[in-house]
Amino acid sequence: MEKQEWLLGIDLGGTTVKLAFVNKEGTIVEKWEIPTNLVDNGIHIVSEIASSVKEKMGKWPKAALVAAGMGAPGPVDFETGSIYVAVNIGWRNYPLKSRLERELGIPVVVDNDANMASYGEFWKGTGEGTNDLVCITLGTGVGGGIIANQELVHGVSGAGGELGHITVIPEGGASCNCGKTGCIETIASATGIVRLTLEEINKKPESLIANRYRDQGLITSKDLFECVEEHDEASAAVLDKVAKYLGLTAAHVGNCLNPDKIVFGGGVSRAGEVLLSPVRAYFQQYAFPRVAESTSLECASLGNDAGVIGAAGLAYKQYGN
Ligand code: ZN
Repeated sequence: MEKQEWLLGIDLGGTTVKLAFVNKEGTIVEKWEIPTNLVDNGIHIVSEIASSVKEKMGKWPKAALVAAGMGAPGPVDFETGSIYVAVNIGWRNYPLKSRLERELGIPVVVDNDANMASYGEFWKGTGEGTNDLVCITLGTGVGGGIIANQELVHGVSGAGGELGHITVIPEGGASCNCGKTGCIETIASATGIVRLTLEEINKKPESLIANRYRDQGLITSKDLFECVEEHDEASAAVLDKVAKYLGLTAAHVGNCLNPDKIVFGGGVSRAGEVLLSPVRAYFQQYAFPRVAESTSLECASLGNDAGVIGAAGLAYKQYGN
């Protein structure tokens, strides 16, 4: 009897490795996680992934893995599958693709995690059926991915689609993890939103958000969106600033590419329309009119599964036929 052919999707993070068996229709058959072993600059990660995969496959005698994809947190040489540098993991010029292929015995495609998540939304999420798609992931940082004519854009040194580091405040902006200042990441990431919220709390100590901060001893981007919904003016001012610069970023990217959709993912995007509708308004104001009419702004739909689904999808595209 012929075996069912599956793809393996892997999404490497600083604390956990997400893994999934995905069928050729893009449906997850089984997913699980293992801890990311950072000991010895991450040299045990690949062998631990391989043994975990072999153990899980033991339960599925009627299935076979045909290829794997892996997203890693750092710029990737897409041709060779080497990681230039992954600071959180300890890798530098690490030959991830060849190590994984040796351990797993199947072809592997490697890309950075934001590109993989974007490809997931393109294959099976909000971007399904589009030709040109941009994803902006609003998490601890701001990641991005560009799909043009159904292909991920990598650029000359693997830094294509680094949308989080588009400068929106040319002078006097906050410091960014990339070494610059004033990047959209310093405004629209969860960390950036908290920073702006704390600034506003200092200015408006009697506001609802300030009271909440005093009660809880800390504040999150989720608190900010909740206070906006309760009509807190201080919170609305923060949201307006975030939406303005995010709308400006989307307009720049939209003018460059005129994609079918610009999709917002990551934890911050769970705010949904509270965030998206003011971003759309600024996008309408700043984008070239024909772009504003034809490119839509939407929320991502795959949540935390986008990375493993995208990695599997890219493996299928490269090696599946
Ligand atoms: Zn930056």
